[in-house]
Amino acid sequence: MRLILLVAAWIAAVLGAVVFVVAMIEAAMRRAEGEANDIRPNELHHAYLGALLLIGTAPLGGWRAVFGAWLAAALICDDADEHRQQLRRPAYQSLLHRWFAATLWRFAWIRWLAGVLNRVFGKAAP
Ligand SMILES: [Zn+2]
Repeated sequence: MRLILLVAAWIAAVLGAVVFVVAMIEAAMRRAEGEANDIRPNELHHAYLGALLLIGTAPLGGWRAVFGAWLAAALICDDADEHRQQLRRPAYQSLLHRWFAATLWRFAWIRWLAGVLNRVFGKAAP
């Protein structure tokens, strides 16, 4: 049972990652055609945090790996869906994005960390 749940979470995470990559490619193609969208892979995305969580919790094994994989899949799929939606509605923010903005963004160290990570990923400061 645990193995089935673990494999299902990994499949969900990988499918989410595929949707994320397809959204990034579509956004880049639209920019090449002259559309002014700002959907770019080189900034801190919660899909990346999900990928780190997926890889980081896998060695723990047991239910911790299952829980980590499902949490990671949720992060990756939420971010993928956010950017897929933004291709049609640029102002769209996912549920997790809105929760992050409403709860964690008020902390200066979170804003500082996001800025540092965005620079690491290559995004210019706003
Ligand atoms: Zn994102």
